[in-house]
Amino acid sequence: MPRGRAARAASPTGAPGDPLVDRFGRVHRDLRISLTDRCSLRCTYCMPEQGNEWLARESILTLDEIERVARVAAADGVTTFRLTGGEPLLRRDIVEIVRRLAAIEGPDGPVQIAMTTNGIRLPEVLPGLVAAGLTRLNISIDTLRPARFAELTRRDRLSEVLDGIAAATASGLTPLKLNAVAMRGVNDDELVDLVEFAVAHGAQMRFIEQMPLDAGHTWDRARMVTREEILDALSSRWALKPVPGRGGAPAERWRLDGGPHTVGVIASVTAPFCGDCDRVRLTADGQLRNCLFSTSEFDLVPVLRGGGDAADVDRVLRACIAGKLPGHAIDDPGFLQPARGMNAIGG
Ligand code: SAM
Ligand code: SF4
Repeated sequence: MPRGRAARAASPTGAPGDPLVDRFGRVHRDLRISLTDRCSLRCTYCMPEQGNEWLARESILTLDEIERVARVAAADGVTTFRLTGGEPLLRRDIVEIVRRLAAIEGPDGPVQIAMTTNGIRLPEVLPGLVAAGLTRLNISIDTLRPARFAELTRRDRLSEVLDGIAAATASGLTPLKLNAVAMRGVNDDELVDLVEFAVAHGAQMRFIEQMPLDAGHTWDRARMVTREEILDALSSRWALKPVPGRGGAPAERWRLDGGPHTVGVIASVTAPFCGDCDRVRLTADGQLRNCLFSTSEFDLVPVLRGGGDAADVDRVLRACIAGKLPGHAIDDPGFLQPARGMNAIGG
């Protein structure tokens, strides 16, 4: 079941119900579940315009299969399921997925259900999602300019994303987070505007350093906008004061002018936070990944579709955690970009 070099070196530790602790003492509490590799947009930093090799439909995990994995993870101390993709709202059974997962309880009580989405279709499905138990929402928006949006996502759909954000604001789900990948010569002149937009919508803006996860393999370290550059740009408008107590969260946060609003930066490349990582990922086709940048995966399909039980799922999950490396090593000369693009890994 394990594939790749790191996977072969791993040996599972612990028994069902024990916390998911890796060789470096990191306890895993966050399972990111990718529901599909398909998407309504084609963001340049994530997917190619054409030629993407889609996962075969029959390989996509069903609601029942996702629930089986989630129940094991919750029993092992996972407290948050984050639904992602591809675009999670493209799943026709999305409300039922949220309902089933939200009903799961771990040792510390009910799990949290978060979602990362591009916001398209949100106005029509959000009431159902909230009623089903969705607790948190992150929406991606890289630009507020329609022409730029169309170029960057290769789809002219900014107004639908804005409608999605308006629906999220109206729903009262908090904290609402808006994510943007900062890109040189693309949207790096809009960072202040994006923060002002988020503040006006009662949301927290978060900027993400672009990572080498585009399906087209075009990422260039020298061209990416760094955490320092992002902070410099924002400092021209606000006095930024660090918010302490980050814990395992990917975003560092700063308070704006000492007021109630904050901005976050996810500096995965220039200030990695691997030492506090509590995340593990399930791809839409049933592969467990212990890092965004893993070149190995742990295959749950033989267990899920071959008569395995919860103890078998637990064994694969523990093998995955045991194989986790200390960090992503983007800066190592031997760094290899994963074969899957971000849309097929689950961000
Ligand atoms: N479609 C949904 C969305 O866009 O929010 C969920 C999936 S998307 C892969 C999740 C997050 O990954 C988004 O915030 C997106 O901006 C981010 N992302 C995708 N490719 C990235 C890259 N190469 N570097 C940094 N972030 C990336
Ligand atoms: Fe789709 Fe999200 Fe990737 Fe953009 S970042 S192409 S919205 S999966």
